[in-house]
Amino acid sequence: MRELVRKLFGGTEYLSHRLESEELVLELESVQKEAECPHCKEKSSRVHSRYLRKFADLPIKGHPTRVLLHCRKFFCDNPFCRYKTFTENFAFIRPMESKTQRLISEILKVSGNNSSRKAKAILAEKGIKISKATICNLNNKNC
Ligand SMILES: [Zn+2]
Repeated sequence: MRELVRKLFGGTEYLSHRLESEELVLELESVQKEAECPHCKEKSSRVHSRYLRKFADLPIKGHPTRVLLHCRKFFCDNPFCRYKTFTENFAFIRPMESKTQRLISEILKVSGNNSSRKAKAILAEKGIKISKATICNLNNKNC
């Protein structure tokens, strides 16, 4: 699991996993040495606080996967930046997003060629639980 986590979630380390009914809950922690302030691009390694980020990823062995990632807020020490703190980011998920990039790609791939109703059914078979409304939102269409 450690190797898989390093590959799938760059900048993190595996902590634990458990099955909650059918769902795989994967707990990870950030091990990035420093983070870049998204406002001024200055790097910082001075930790302000910690928080838990929750998001969904592609199913692992058919289990819907929910990730709990212990990550951090950093101080921005650039005196010219108007932000004092910022949250660290990761290549596999956008800021504020509740789904990984690869999960969103899969949803878009399936829904691109199908109605949202059909897409919902195909995705459910793959272990991706998603509402029709969310499929429509991700595709930027009203349906
Ligand atoms: Zn800054």
